[in-house]
Amino acid sequence: MRYVIFGKTGLTVSELGFGGIPLIRLHKDSAGEVLRRAYERGITFYDTANMYLDSEEKIGAAFSGMRDKVVIASKSLRRDAAGMTGHIEESLRRLKTDYIDLYQLHQVAKESDWNAITAPGGAMEALLTARDKGNIRYIGVTSHSLAMAVKLVKTDLFSSIQFPFNFIEIAAKDELHVIARERNVGILAMKPFAGGMIDNADITFKFLRQHPDVIPIPGFDSIAVVDQVISFYEQENVTTPKDLDLMDHYRNELGKQFCRRCEYCQPCPNGVLITPAMAYRVIASRMSPAVAVKFSRPVMESVLQCTGCGECLEKCPYELPIPDMLKAHYDLYEQQRKEMQDLIP
Ligand code: SF4
Ligand code: SF4
Repeated sequence: MRYVIFGKTGLTVSELGFGGIPLIRLHKDSAGEVLRRAYERGITFYDTANMYLDSEEKIGAAFSGMRDKVVIASKSLRRDAAGMTGHIEESLRRLKTDYIDLYQLHQVAKESDWNAITAPGGAMEALLTARDKGNIRYIGVTSHSLAMAVKLVKTDLFSSIQFPFNFIEIAAKDELHVIARERNVGILAMKPFAGGMIDNADITFKFLRQHPDVIPIPGFDSIAVVDQVISFYEQENVTTPKDLDLMDHYRNELGKQFCRRCEYCQPCPNGVLITPAMAYRVIASRMSPAVAVKFSRPVMESVLQCTGCGECLEKCPYELPIPDMLKAHYDLYEQQRKEMQDLIP
C-alpha cells in the first residue's frame, strides 16, 4: 500500500480508502473484524455518513483507543445550520471521538441545495463554526452532478470533492479532476463499481490505479473482500488489451441502462423520489432484503404515485426509460417486501 498527501489537508492517507455503507448489514462484531483487518492491511482512510445507520458507531468502536492512527470522514445531508450542527454532534458521539478529520456536505446536486447551504442560517455557517471549534478539521463536499461538482470546487471553500469515478463513468477525468488538482483539492472516487453495476474487481482497480491521486472508497463487507482488493494494490499495475476490451464491453452493455444519480430528473411533479428509487436493485444487493425493504420503504412507496407523464424522460441526460425502470425496481421491492413482511414492523 502506498500513502499519498490528501490535497490541501496535508493529511497522509492510504491510496485506497474504505467506504462505510456495507457496514450497515454486518453484525457489529463482524464489522469490527473487517475494519481492523483493513487497518492491519494498510488502509487508513474511512468514509461514512450520518445517514448510513450504525456505520459511524461501528467505525467508532473498531478504532477506539487508536483514533490518531486513522483518518475519518463523514457527511450530512442537512442544509440548515441547526440541522448540520446536530448531525456533527451526533457523528462525534457515534464515532466516539472529539474530532472528525473531514466533514462533507452530502450530495449537493441542485442550485436550491447550494442556495440553502450558503444562505444566512445555512449549513456552511455550522461547518465553519465546527471547524473553528476543532470538532471537524476540514470541510469537503460530495456530488453526483458534474456541473455542480465543478462549481463547488471552484468556490475554493472545500478541501475535498467526492464524485463517482470508475471505468464506465469517466466524465470527471477531463474537467473535474483537472480543476481539483489545480486547486489542490483532495479527490475521492465514490462508486468505484458504478453503484454495483461492475462485478469485475480486477479491471476495476486496474483502471483506478491509473489515477494514483484519486482515492477510491469501495465498500467492504468481509475480510475476504478486504484481502482480495488489497492484493490488487500489491501487484504491478498492468492493463492488457484484453482488459481494455472488457471495459468496453461493460460500457457498451451498461451504457444507457443505469442511473448515475445526477438528479437532473427531479423533482417529479407527482412526488416520486426517482433517484433513490432507481437505486433499489443495488441497495437490495448490498443489504439483507429485510434491511433494504425497511430502509427504502418511503422511497419505493412514492413510486406508486408515478402517472407515466414522461416529464422526467425529457430531463434525463442518459435517456433512461425511467418509468419502466421504476416499475421494475418497484416489482423487486414488492416481491422482497412480501417475503420479509413478518420481519417488518
Ligand atoms: S413519469 Fe412518473 S416519475 Fe417521471 S415525472 Fe412523470 S410521474 Fe414522475
Ligand atoms: S434517472 Fe437519469 S436523470 Fe435521473 S438521476 Fe438517474 S441518470 Fe440522472
